[in-house]
Amino acid sequence: MNDNKIKSRRQFLAGSAAGAAALATKSATAQEARYVIDVPEVVSMEIDGTSNRFPVRRVFALGRNYRAHAIESGDDPDVTPPFFFIKPRDAVVEAGKGHPYPQMTKELRYEAEMIVALKSGGTDISPEDALDHVYAYGVGLDMTREDLQHVAQELSRPWAISKSFDNSAPCGPLYPVESNGHAVDGRIWLSVNDEMKQDSNLSLQRWSVPEGIAILSQYYKLTAGDIIMTGTPAGIGLVNKGDVIKTGIEGVGEIEVVIT
Ligand code: MN
Repeated sequence: MNDNKIKSRRQFLAGSAAGAAALATKSATAQEARYVIDVPEVVSMEIDGTSNRFPVRRVFALGRNYRAHAIESGDDPDVTPPFFFIKPRDAVVEAGKGHPYPQMTKELRYEAEMIVALKSGGTDISPEDALDHVYAYGVGLDMTREDLQHVAQELSRPWAISKSFDNSAPCGPLYPVESNGHAVDGRIWLSVNDEMKQDSNLSLQRWSVPEGIAILSQYYKLTAGDIIMTGTPAGIGLVNKGDVIKTGIEGVGEIEVVIT
């Protein structure tokens, strides 16, 4: 029965005992509703040391959160603050599965990033309380179709298409705060075919993790399952099929991603 038929039947029966019964039946039917297509799969991340999984709700990402990278990207970090963008949750894929070279680009860029996974959230979270919402940290890549990003930048268009494509966030396992502590300081690095390309420190983030959570929560109601990619240091560059990216964060973990 389509919506129009339901509506006209409700109007016809309104005000009568039969109407009340019909509405009761309708609400029972609604509870038994079947989805017309397969329900999209839950996207989840491996958790170090357990077979339990972390379900991903949304993927927020910080842009230009390291001063040297802001400069190499053409920003004046004294004037322009970092910013947020979003990837679809199913951009998150396991690093070990490799990264298929994406469609519609000839310039695929790597960006090493620390991942922050939230176990709770809210709005207007204070920086002092922000770390209480963190479940775990991890290592991931914010893969970027650089040629499409440049076109978008030149035309002052959104650059979602350059950032938010399928498989664009290969990630390693999460390391829970409970067992691993918070990641606030430590080397973040990335190599391509064993040649070091990015080498920085979490302490150089322009918005620290607590600041990032606090600022993001001014714009969104954060919830459990949200993850935040906390930006990449200087030294971004391109990769080709067959290249092997290794990236790690001191005190968190390391991943290896082969471009296939
Ligand atoms: Mn990034």
